[in-house]
Amino acid sequence: MTPVSILMYHSVGARQNPAYDRWCVSPQRFRDQMSALAESGYAVLTTGDYVDRLASGAALPDRFVVLTFDDGLQDFLTGAAPILGRFGFPATVYVVAGRVGLTSRWLAPLGEGHRPMLTTDELRQLARSGIEIGGHTMTHPELDILDPARAMAEIGGSRRVLEDILGSPVRSFAYPHGYNSARTRAIVERAGYQSAVRVRHAHSERSECRFGLSRLIITEDLDPQRFMRLIGGPERVVAPPQDRLIADLWRSTRRLRHWRDQRALAG
Ligand SMILES: [Zn+2]
Repeated sequence: MTPVSILMYHSVGARQNPAYDRWCVSPQRFRDQMSALAESGYAVLTTGDYVDRLASGAALPDRFVVLTFDDGLQDFLTGAAPILGRFGFPATVYVVAGRVGLTSRWLAPLGEGHRPMLTTDELRQLARSGIEIGGHTMTHPELDILDPARAMAEIGGSRRVLEDILGSPVRSFAYPHGYNSARTRAIVERAGYQSAVRVRHAHSERSECRFGLSRLIITEDLDPQRFMRLIGGPERVVAPPQDRLIADLWRSTRRLRHWRDQRALAG
């Protein structure tokens, strides 16, 4: 089976702070990447549509990618949506539900805490135009080190808030920072989501657990040739076997730091 390319974007707009550059793609570059997809005959699916087709055994296009945008920044509307509209491409936008209509406060450590977020009206407008809105927690925490009750409040809370705004089911979820664990994945499923995406910078396999779908990080330096090679060419990205071990070690380090910070706060 051909691996599946689930593409991950954040901001489609002007670069501001070097610490955040990796997560910014300019509208010009984004247009060139979408144009390359269209010229190569690729179809585009939302995560929800992709997962539905897998579950039902419905046909998938010969060549396709899944387009995803994390966080719900307002520049999705100004930078990405007009270009997607031109090519007739849908996408899934994962929204930090507790920050709708506010700013990207959780990005303050990167000097980007002031970015405007999509508003309730804008989310409704996007949903009407065929953009899938997915959950991405309430406040963008590192989920895998939260206690289960707080993780459920973040995960289930974002689903309820977004469903209230949209008046329709929210079925797709993205882990903030990609951080997840077996326990987090179980909570996402219990909260009623149908799928969840992580980061991993690897192609997804059709057999991959639908609560841990791998995504490719798309950056400004991917010109159309490199972009198409990453998606369909010989340069397939496969996560190394030690991927898991490193992730586990890193999680332990963050958990220790989290406990230490909590103790410092309590003391
Ligand atoms: Zn995020």
